[in-house]
Amino acid sequence: MKVLTGVGAVIEGATHADRLTGVVHGHDWVVTAWHECKDENDAVVLRSNLELLCKGFDHKPLPPELTRAEDLAVAIMRLSPPSCVEVEISRAGRLYARVTA
Ligand SMILES: [Zn+2]
Repeated sequence: MKVLTGVGAVIEGATHADRLTGVVHGHDWVVTAWHECKDENDAVVLRSNLELLCKGFDHKPLPPELTRAEDLAVAIMRLSPPSCVEVEISRAGRLYARVTA
């Protein structure tokens, strides 16, 4: 059995260009990060770290290499503590991206 601890944060109003039309627009991106359940992991601390990480993207254009939610999920996974084994990003329209270790 694998036991995980999940924490969430929101990237507010980050913008990117539509891949088909090039039209720049913004989304709120809901981020959920799952960590291996370890004694040294405190969920509140993990959530605070994720919130801080996500805040760096708020109300800014996403870098060109991170305009897809899948790429953003990979970047967040890489910037998270090593205990992070999965990151999911969703946004309005029931659209999801997920990366796993
Ligand atoms: Zn979009």
